[in-house]
Amino acid sequence: MLKKFLYIIGLLLILVLLLLGFKKTNLSSFIDIVESRTFDLRQSIMINANAKKVNDNIVIVAIDDASYEYILDNYGEWPLTRDIYAQMIEYLEQQQPKIIAFDLMFVKSLKSKPNADKALVDAMKKYNNVYTAMNFDNQPEELRTPVKLPDNLAVDVEIQSDNINLDSITFSNCRAILSDILNSTSNVGIINVSRADDGILRKMPMFARYQNKFYPHLGLKVGLDYLKTTENQTINKFIVDKNSDLILGSRKVYLDTDGSAILNWYGPSGTYTHIPMYKLIKKIKGEPTDLNYSFKNKIIYFGTTAASLFDIKTVPAGKIYPGVEVQATYVNNLIDNNFITKAGKLYTVIASVILALVTILLVMKLSSAVIASISVVGIYMAYVIASYYAMKLSNLWIELVYPLLAAILAFITALIIKYLIKSRDFEQQYKLATTDGLTDLYNHRYFQDQMKMNVEHSKRYETNFSLIIIDIDFFKKFNDTYGHQSGDAVLRQVAQILKRNVRATDIVCRYGGEEMSIILPNTGKDEAQMTAEKICKIVSEKQFKLNNDKETHVTISLGVSTYPFDGETPTNLIDAADKRLYNAKNNGRNQVGQ
Ligand code: GH3
Ligand code: MG
Ligand code: MG
Repeated sequence: MLKKFLYIIGLLLILVLLLLGFKKTNLSSFIDIVESRTFDLRQSIMINANAKKVNDNIVIVAIDDASYEYILDNYGEWPLTRDIYAQMIEYLEQQQPKIIAFDLMFVKSLKSKPNADKALVDAMKKYNNVYTAMNFDNQPEELRTPVKLPDNLAVDVEIQSDNINLDSITFSNCRAILSDILNSTSNVGIINVSRADDGILRKMPMFARYQNKFYPHLGLKVGLDYLKTTENQTINKFIVDKNSDLILGSRKVYLDTDGSAILNWYGPSGTYTHIPMYKLIKKIKGEPTDLNYSFKNKIIYFGTTAASLFDIKTVPAGKIYPGVEVQATYVNNLIDNNFITKAGKLYTVIASVILALVTILLVMKLSSAVIASISVVGIYMAYVIASYYAMKLSNLWIELVYPLLAAILAFITALIIKYLIKSRDFEQQYKLATTDGLTDLYNHRYFQDQMKMNVEHSKRYETNFSLIIIDIDFFKKFNDTYGHQSGDAVLRQVAQILKRNVRATDIVCRYGGEEMSIILPNTGKDEAQMTAEKICKIVSEKQFKLNNDKETHVTISLGVSTYPFDGETPTNLIDAADKRLYNAKNNGRNQVGQ
């Protein structure tokens, strides 16, 4: 029991070391990708099960294919002149929306008309709930000079966690939007995204670092502004605590190691209400349109969904997902508190150890390998299902790959160990059943089996084999003189001499009492006779050590028989050898009988 316990502990130690070693290899980034894929799978199942509903207060004004064509026909090449946006803002504001956010960057363009741009800037100045976007990148300075951004766009961020590495959200350049916008409003947020190694967008940064200052994400600004009106939250300083949680009033948003929040997805593309932008333009122009949507209290996100406008991402919820819907999902996660929390490393280690432990116990306890395998697979499935519900019910991402890998490794190792133990037990049993405890020679039963086998073998291959039977001379007297203990010691030493002086293929047995026998496969009469004489001589010359440290001499008598000359059955061969042994005794002992 203690041994098994030690086995298990040792095994777990090896597993933990293996896993820790794994973390430092290329394999670990591969495993991370596999883990992310299991995340995508969990998300897809949740989406199919309609597990999370989108917030109805978010609406997308989509620059879809129809709107793109409408703009081409009526206003010429993209981008649209900015006075049209100004008019849409005016129209929408009359319905008192909560927020109007543009997932569009109003950069200086060939089509920029000072008056049209000014109209937009004025509209943004007039209403304090209009937001727009900018984007950081790492374009070389020779391409464009990094702009200096107004101070009021930056925010105070304090990161207390050691797990967050800001490298991937630190940028050296900025794609500047109209400086009139930058200088007249602080409602500008970044729209950078975080893509994983496999190209899939699962996370969004909360802020990015540029010229040693932090700038908040558009989604964070919009979400917080919304919460300010619904929950009265004001945040002056962003703190990421020791657990990598960004504190937002009463909420906590878990940030992954790259400083990004992990998104929870609500549905495939098109889950949010989409209003094609051309309908809005028609409305402001007084053209007939079926648009009668009420924008009151809504968060309105403007963005492109037309494939020709190049803002398509791959996300867990779909291969083709418009950027504006990603932004909407971000805001939705924020206001409905749905961001994903990743269970910590400690959790992964504990889960791995528990799964491995349960696996080992099951394999050791259940005698049938099939039943053990089925139970173990059942437990792994239960863990997978639990991981799904953890995400569905608590927005928790618990790792699957490492714990399952540890468990499967444990399963294989436990099976191997189990069979090693089993075969060792079997060997022990076999030894117990075939050897004599006192002399460590083969026992009588094994001797009889081997006699039969050798007769069969010699018959089939037409060869011969020999048998030597040995009896210690005057052993009764020896016992009487020196005591039984000394007799036993002599028996053991005679046995040793026999074993040492025959071939490895010869079989030395204790026939019974102080009689021993040697089966010599493939050995003829003369050879056997010589062996017997050699042994007789060695024994007679040997000084036997007794229990009381005294030394004495012992002699033996031997009888030899050979298949097939002296008999063709075990009984006949034993009888023949016995007869010669008897002759040796009669002839004065300490000799090989004739
Ligand atoms: P001989 O064979 O020379 O005719 O005389 P012997 O005294 O050896 O005769 P016998 O075969 O009748 O006696 C066998 C004795 O061996 C009897 C018994 O006390 C002793 N003996 C048998 N098995 C053991 C054993 O396991 N240990 C000890 N110490 N003595 C044993
Ligand atoms: Mg005897
Ligand atoms: Mg004897």
